[in-house]
Amino acid sequence: MKILVINAGSSSLKYQLIDMENEKVMAKGLCERIGIDGHLKHSPLVGGKPVFDEDISLPTHSEAIAAVIDKLTSPEYGVVTSMKEIDAVGHRVVHGGEKFACSVKIDDEVMAALEECTPFAPLHNPANITGINACKAVMGDVPMVAVFDTAFHQTMPGKAYMYAIPYEYYKNDGIRRYGFHGTSHRYVSSRCAELMGRPIEELKIISCHMGNGSSICAIDHGKCVDTSMGFTPLVGLPMGTRCGDLDAGVIQFIMNKYGMNIDEMLNILNKKSGVLGVSGVSSDFRDLEKAAEEGNERAALALEMFHYWSAKVVGSYIAAMNGVDAIIFTAGVGENGKETRAAVCEHFGYLGVELDEEANSKRGQDIMISTPESKVKVFVIPTNEELVIARDTKAIVG
Ligand code: AMP
Repeated sequence: MKILVINAGSSSLKYQLIDMENEKVMAKGLCERIGIDGHLKHSPLVGGKPVFDEDISLPTHSEAIAAVIDKLTSPEYGVVTSMKEIDAVGHRVVHGGEKFACSVKIDDEVMAALEECTPFAPLHNPANITGINACKAVMGDVPMVAVFDTAFHQTMPGKAYMYAIPYEYYKNDGIRRYGFHGTSHRYVSSRCAELMGRPIEELKIISCHMGNGSSICAIDHGKCVDTSMGFTPLVGLPMGTRCGDLDAGVIQFIMNKYGMNIDEMLNILNKKSGVLGVSGVSSDFRDLEKAAEEGNERAALALEMFHYWSAKVVGSYIAAMNGVDAIIFTAGVGENGKETRAAVCEHFGYLGVELDEEANSKRGQDIMISTPESKVKVFVIPTNEELVIARDTKAIVG
């Protein structure tokens, strides 16, 4: 069975074609600048075919999907001979609200429910829906599955997902914490249990997804019980450009003082804050580490804040679960930033967390970075959201 995994953004579309016989990626690529002009980078990973990396016209997502199918099946760049070899499509969908606690086969009813979830993710869900419609237009009745970023967090209890505001806002408007990066937290936590050789139902795990966007998740006996992102992906840890947790009074103060409207304010909180805002240097942790080494105090402060907040959240989840067996680091910073991992773990010496420096210096593989004696195991596990989407699609489409 061959499954096409699609992650559609507003002007971009990422894809992978995965052969489920061996779970190997046959080809992957990225369409960019959709609706502006258009660029496609297509990389075949089997059959020794060349990479295609050129500007092409992509007025809408339908042309983007058509270009992807064309490249996947072309004699020069292709990895299959015709579209008939693609058995199903799995779509990443950011927000499934309270309606979707697991992945589902897409039909008209699901499409209507996705539209209903759109107000919760006004930037992301419309792009995901456009991607699904474009696939339908180009690929006809190939079965499709939606896999939600929020679904894994639907097991959170009320005490974790409720905001302490009047209950009506939850009941009437669905205002609550939903959490994001669920597909990633789900993948790395189940991989962690595999690596530990124990059923996930026996384990208390804390998963730290640290990339441009970052969230931490408490997984108790295989179920998410808390996570740091909320109603939107703006909160929790300070991120590349997002502010993380913030007193709502600050918003009112800045808006009043500088005559800003809410869109301008949210633009600052989403795009100009986080470690970029504090450092004034960059949102990229590599740049920050370099600047801090060269003596830039604001870069050092931004990094310290990120480490401190991460440790605070991990600590609170140890309390929430009354213990922890394993801590996982994943995504760009979690997988590559050995300083970040060391700085976070330093806070848990009292629990018997002990890092193995040599293992902590390795990258690009699933690895235990704690010493064999460490009471709490620490892992680096490169995330693989596409594989989860493909596995769910296979399980649902059969
Ligand atoms: P992601 O959103 O998961 O793609 O992560 C992207 C982020 O990973 C970048 O903005 C960098 O800050 C970070 N990153 C990538 N490589 C490294 C590295 N070698 N050391 C520290 N951070 C890194």
